[in-house]
Amino acid sequence: MERIGHWIGGRPWDGVAERTGPVYNPATGEERARVDLATAEVVDAAVAAAAQALPEWRATSLTRRASALFAFRDLVAGRREELAALITAEHGKVQQDALGEVQRGLEVVEFACGIPHLLKGAYSLNVSTRIDAYSIRQPVGVCAIISPFNFPAMVPMWFYPLAIACGNTVVCKPSEKDPSVSVRVAELWAEAGLPPGVFNVVHGDAVAVDRLLEHPGVQAVSFVGSTPVAHHIYQQGTSHGKRVQALGGAKNHMLVLPDADLDLAADAAVSAGYGSAGERCMAISVVVAVDPVGDDLVDRIAERTRKVAVGDGSRPGSEMGPLVTGAHRDRVTGYVAGGEAAGARLVVDGRGWAVDGAPGGFWLGPCLFDRVTPEMMLYRDEIFGPVLSVVRVPSYEAGVALINANPWGNGTAIFTNDGGAARRFQEEVEVGLIGINVPIPVPMAYYSFGGWKASLFGDSHAHGTDGVHFFTRGKAVTSRWLDPSHGGIHLGFPTNQ
Ligand code: NAD
Repeated sequence: MERIGHWIGGRPWDGVAERTGPVYNPATGEERARVDLATAEVVDAAVAAAAQALPEWRATSLTRRASALFAFRDLVAGRREELAALITAEHGKVQQDALGEVQRGLEVVEFACGIPHLLKGAYSLNVSTRIDAYSIRQPVGVCAIISPFNFPAMVPMWFYPLAIACGNTVVCKPSEKDPSVSVRVAELWAEAGLPPGVFNVVHGDAVAVDRLLEHPGVQAVSFVGSTPVAHHIYQQGTSHGKRVQALGGAKNHMLVLPDADLDLAADAAVSAGYGSAGERCMAISVVVAVDPVGDDLVDRIAERTRKVAVGDGSRPGSEMGPLVTGAHRDRVTGYVAGGEAAGARLVVDGRGWAVDGAPGGFWLGPCLFDRVTPEMMLYRDEIFGPVLSVVRVPSYEAGVALINANPWGNGTAIFTNDGGAARRFQEEVEVGLIGINVPIPVPMAYYSFGGWKASLFGDSHAHGTDGVHFFTRGKAVTSRWLDPSHGGIHLGFPTNQ
């Protein structure tokens, strides 16, 4: 059985693991490897390695840091197929989707290659007579990155390229469900010439995470995962004096107005609802149909849903893979049974779906519910699987009120041909990421990614200028060189002259 170990101080950790966990191939249901689960001592060793590497790395010139990023960028780009295959083997998503994930991560690396420009401060000459003022940004220190299973390559890449570019060192704690790609990334960093200890990987569960949260050597925590854990991370991390950005779960709504192009909307609902088996924080899980379009829209979505090709993600032709674990598949299936019992209309039932894959895989076909109401668990919980719910509303106003009453606020979309309605929507809706005739509005790396309400704790979104600010601390310097004479003692508060 393959063993997946930690990466500490520029090489694989050679200790003996006290605990290990299973890593499955979701398409077969077989255990493909065991992953080491870090104890507090192993976390301490990783933080010590990061702390030891920090003084030299933060003093490394911007040019050299950027060179390491360019080299890493080329290595990841050259091995995208290999990384995507690793993702598919442990997550289950189809190859094309896994390649897209690597590509979106690479965009953050490319953004971080511009770090010399991104870290420029401001300079004001003569803010007072012969006194200048300027600003600089410095690294925060050792940064912890804790990531979810659903984007094992991209989500950590939202953070570590910028953290490293800004002069910090990193301890990454990937999901224990699909940990291999992070180890491969660590090897690529080493090949790119990054000094040992700047990028470390510890695998593990709550034991490792809780040690990172309380460790006095960790200055910043970037977390992505479910809302209850994000809340815990934010509370614990900030109570230990760290800066924390904790991105949580989602329940993303897609509002379809009667004037929308219904074929475009139906294509978008199916792509965004069932892509990656619904295991995306930006998946559409609720279609809000403004009547009278409900019947027509549901027919068009159902027709397309029935044609989704479910199968082993490594096989060409598969459009949707299995769920990540058997336990998660069973949980999602429970919502399908619960939705039926609650009185929602199950238009397409993905249970028992014909699948191009091994019988032991964690399969569930796409499920479509109509006439879902806000009290149902189907609507209230984040299901994180291939279950799409249609809620009918009588008006645009009722649709926006529904979205704004939802506790989450990660992503949303409006489908309409009315520019005025779209403009109103982007202003009125209480959600961080908005799509206008775009179902999965994940911003490019040079904008920042983040939700509102229960989808994000903290005030910094990921990457973009928010990312640069999160991974640096500002200083404002006031300086006098030319005129050392101070004109005598003056006890009043300094003002400009
Ligand atoms: P999760 O919350 O179970 O796990 C995330 C990370 O936290 C993992 O590394 C895990 O090991 C760790 N963890 C789990 N339980 C913990 C605990 N009790 N204490 C400390 N650490 C713990 O999330 P997941 O199932 O891996 O990922 C899916 C979730 O992530 C969904 O809710 C999804 O919406 C969310 N997500 C959000 C975004 C976003 O940008 N907002 C992006 C991707 C995923």
